[in-house]
Order: sequence, then structure tokens, then C-alpha cells
Amino acid sequence: MIFPTISCGKTDIGLRRKNNEDIFHTDAKSDFFLVADGMGGAAAGEIASRIFLNAAMNIIADNSERTQQQAVTLIKKVYTAAHRDILHNVEQHPENSGMGCTAELLIFHATGFVLGHIGDSRTYRLRRNNFKQITKDHSLVQEQLNQGIITPEQARNHKMRNVILRALGINEEIALDVIKGKLFPGDIFLLCSDGLSDMVDDDFIFSILTKTIPLPQKTELLIDAAKNAGGRDNITVTLVELEQTLNS
Ligand code: CA
Repeated sequence: MIFPTISCGKTDIGLRRKNNEDIFHTDAKSDFFLVADGMGGAAAGEIASRIFLNAAMNIIADNSERTQQQAVTLIKKVYTAAHRDILHNVEQHPENSGMGCTAELLIFHATGFVLGHIGDSRTYRLRRNNFKQITKDHSLVQEQLNQGIITPEQARNHKMRNVILRALGINEEIALDVIKGKLFPGDIFLLCSDGLSDMVDDDFIFSILTKTIPLPQKTELLIDAAKNAGGRDNITVTLVELEQTLNS
């Protein structure tokens, strides 16, 4: 692999929900990383996020020698397959109607990364001391923010915060964001469900990620922080850190 990484993921049911509809995957060997957050009645949300994971596992084989274009193609294939499989499942099981999931999928290629994003799960990147959210939520609140109808402060506590505008299995067509970028030694990517980002603000996440402690401990601290803040939803965190020295 061109970019050696260490990674760590964890999901937690939180304090209020009866089941966990989130899923994550970290796999340094095939170097893909994902977080999906399912929605739908009964256990349907869990099925939807599981379908997304299965699609990624089937389509992204152990293959780090890909070009950027190949990485983009792989990402699109995964989302298309997962979307189709969710719709197919609902056709077979009408009781699952309304199920879908948000999904973050990060893969690397010879010179950088490609990220697929749909819904209100998020991906952040820490590069040295520069911490930023590299995805935009596909949510009603984000839309209102973009249009200047509400302030960031109002967005944080908005009662329609959980209304999402895009998800796999929900809209007829997939409207996928594909984000491309370079990689630098020491970069840390954080993929998370809204169970983290709704409960813990960005400054706090930054303070955890910049601590000089092992990655698994950062994962734990982030989950604990979301639970201490109320743990209203399932909380899922995937951290991927590029090693300090890159071999080319
Ligand atoms: Ca959620």
C-alpha cells in the first residue's frame, strides 16, 4: 500500500435508542473506510446500513493500486449497488418500506483520496492544526444555513435538525457527492454519524484529535463525550491516520 495508515472504529448504541442502526468498517488491507447510519421502522435501518457495507465489501477488493478515476468509479459503483439493493429489499419486504441510510465511504488511490458522501453523516479532516468538515450535510438545516435563513447557532439547536434531504434508498435518483483531495503525512480523517456531531461541537472534537494519545483512545473519548452530552442517538466513529512518513 502506498499510504500506510492506522485506523480504528467504534459504534455505540447511545443512551436513548433501543437498537443500533449505524455501521462502520475499517480495513487497512483493502483500504476502505465507511460509516453508514440507517433509518426506517423496526429493524429496517440496520438492514439498510448493512446492505451498504456488503456492497462496499463486494465491490472494493484488496486493490490499492488504483488511479483517482478508478477510485471514483468504485465509489459510484458501491453507492449505485447499495441503492439498488435497498430498493430491491423493500420490494421483497414491503414492511421495510421507508428504509435507507446515509453513507460516508473513503478510499485511497495512488496520489490521494476519494470520498463518497450522502446524507448527514460527516467526514472531517485534521491536517496539522487545520481541522475542517469536508462534507456538507444534506439536511434541511444546512440548506437554510446556505441560504442565510438561519445562523450557525440556530442550526445547532434547530428542532428540524434531523430532517435529511438525501439518503440511499430514499430518493429515486442517487445524488451523491464525490470529494477528491490530496494526502499528507499525518492526516487524520474522521468519519462519524450524526450521533457524534449533534452532541459534540467541532472544537471539542479538534481537542481530542490533537491529543498525543493512541487512536483507539481518541475513538473512546469521542464516543464518551457524545454519551456524556446525552447520547440521544447511535454514535459511530471511524478514525484513519496516515503515518508520518510516506513510502512511495
Ligand atoms: Ca443517526
